[in-house]
Amino acid sequence: MYNRNSFMSELQQLWSRISEIVQTEIPAYRFDVWIKTLDPLCIKDGRLVLMAPTATSKAVVAQNYIPMLKSAAAEAHPAVQEVDVVAPDELEAYMNAAAPEESKNQEKEQAKEQYNTPNMFDSRYTFDSFVVGKSNQFLYAAAKAVADDPGVKHNPLFIYGGTGLGKTHILHAIGNHIRVTRSELKVLYVTSENFINELVASISEKNTKEFRKRYRYLDVLMIDDIQFIANKTSLQEEIFHTFNDLYNEHKQIVISSDKPPKDISPLEERLRSRFEWGLLADVQPPDLITRMAILQKKAYLKKFNVRDDVLELIASKNESNIREMEGMLEKVVFYAGLEQKALTKELALEVLKDYIKDNTEAITADAIIDTVCKHYPKVTRADVLGKKKNKEIVEPRMMSIYFICEILSMPLTAIGQIFGGRDHTTIMYSRDKIAEQVKNKPEIKKMVSDMRAMIYKK
Ligand code: ADP
Ligand code: MG
Repeated sequence: MYNRNSFMSELQQLWSRISEIVQTEIPAYRFDVWIKTLDPLCIKDGRLVLMAPTATSKAVVAQNYIPMLKSAAAEAHPAVQEVDVVAPDELEAYMNAAAPEESKNQEKEQAKEQYNTPNMFDSRYTFDSFVVGKSNQFLYAAAKAVADDPGVKHNPLFIYGGTGLGKTHILHAIGNHIRVTRSELKVLYVTSENFINELVASISEKNTKEFRKRYRYLDVLMIDDIQFIANKTSLQEEIFHTFNDLYNEHKQIVISSDKPPKDISPLEERLRSRFEWGLLADVQPPDLITRMAILQKKAYLKKFNVRDDVLELIASKNESNIREMEGMLEKVVFYAGLEQKALTKELALEVLKDYIKDNTEAITADAIIDTVCKHYPKVTRADVLGKKKNKEIVEPRMMSIYFICEILSMPLTAIGQIFGGRDHTTIMYSRDKIAEQVKNKPEIKKMVSDMRAMIYKK
């Protein structure tokens, strides 16, 4: 099995060849949204394994793009027979499916050379390229302290926060920094799935001593996305011992997770308290000013010449995931280049409208109604779909109609059907009424924008 660490460049190269082929076959915005967001994980038994950013995108890719990816893969590398796409929450199960003996041995050989490979750390992810704002200044300071003096302060450093907020970036920044300032130190970055796989292999070969020994030689161990060890109760004891060995020898441990230790469940108590012993650093979604600064930095690093009003538009459209925000920036730049047009705010709006439309493939009327109901605690879906006319119910009903019109672009009569056979003029009235309130009432505008964000997040 080629794994992410030791064969990063080979795998990345293969993936970029495949991407190039696919890119010529589908519209650019589809490519950007569905294909470019895939992350090549490994080649396992002749299968290229790709990770989709969300369950929804996995479903879309699985349904529409597998044959295309497969033939592109075969073209790029004759040894690749199949292409699998997995969602983040399926990864663990997928990777734990038994590997044939031969690839296991190969994997073991490669694992030995895992640390100190020159391409282990992404050179784009440094402290310099990390923009510091209120939401992440604590994380930044903690990570910097650890990188300056590994094993001395804050051990372990436990980083947690939502996806796309810079956790992996910070781990690589620590790695890059140590490689430059303390090149004698052995630093290993692993994803928790690779760590778990290796551990499983060592257990099945009754060789956990070897596993521990290898890790004990390290000076700094960084494990990304540790949340995947929940449920792995049988492995947690061994993981605890590995950590203990490192900790007792004052070796630095850095861990990232999408949630704090107290929310990783099930998790052995002593492992949880071990995680909590050092420093817990959380990272929050950045505010608008920080998002702008991040976009400016990304634009600068990528040598994009983008006006501030365009950056502001992008920053205002995405509040909770920097990776997605970056994707939007690339997309508008790409489009302007393709069309040979000046990148104005109008053009960006047009491009991003497509983006939003594409995201709606997975959004349904049901999902919209459910989301709206969440904003009105006393109102149920049956109320919204029913006949009652009291004020408390009419507003969420009109909201639901408004969003369904706006997002799903269904015929008005079809929407009327959903709402118990209401006439299309009623639907139109509801839609326009909310649209008008959005213009005139700031509190409604805010509510609509919150709900819209929730609808798109699903
Ligand atoms: P996570 O691991 O938390 O899901 P990543 O570290 O992969 O997120 O970050 C996603 C993208 O956002 C990366 O391209 C990263 O460089 C960028 N990013 C996140 N936070 C910042 C920041 N503060 N400054 C610059 N780039 C950032
Ligand atoms: Mg990450």
